[in-house]
Amino acid sequence: MALLDSARKALAGLPVTRLRAVSSYYRSRPLAGKDQPDYVNAVAELSTALAPEALLDALQDIERAHGRRRDGERWQSRTLDLDILLYGQRRINTGRLRIPHPGIVQRDFVVVPLAELAPALNVPGYGNIQALMRQTPRRGLQRLSR
Ligand code: AMP
Repeated sequence: MALLDSARKALAGLPVTRLRAVSSYYRSRPLAGKDQPDYVNAVAELSTALAPEALLDALQDIERAHGRRRDGERWQSRTLDLDILLYGQRRINTGRLRIPHPGIVQRDFVVVPLAELAPALNVPGYGNIQALMRQTPRRGLQRLSR
């Protein structure tokens, strides 16, 4: 969760961008591989003057900067994955970007924090977030206290 706190600071420091809101953090089990550690997920809302591809570049810089962090006495390898779920109501399909992100649907660790931030959201091509909430199987997602 220190990793997410740090990522949140990095998002707040992006140029021509404002970090408007961050959801609660949610613990989820890995989709595959039982011996992997759990994930912690969150959704952030930004307003930005960065174009979608420039935003992706900036997010990938943040991912790289968080690739390896000092934790106590040891270097522990951890990964940060930042995805653009939505960019307003736009639909984008290029070699590098698919928006809305196709991983939104059927994933409780995306749909639940998204609905927390934007309970009346329309996801272009998928519909209302409350309908997505009803369709999404729950896999034991756990909301963490903040
Ligand atoms: P992953 O490591 O699974 O997050 O995949 C990263 C790759 O997905 C990047 O190289 C992006 O070009 C591509 N990608 C496609 N759509 C998106 C999106 N909406 N947000 C972030 N990455 C995306």
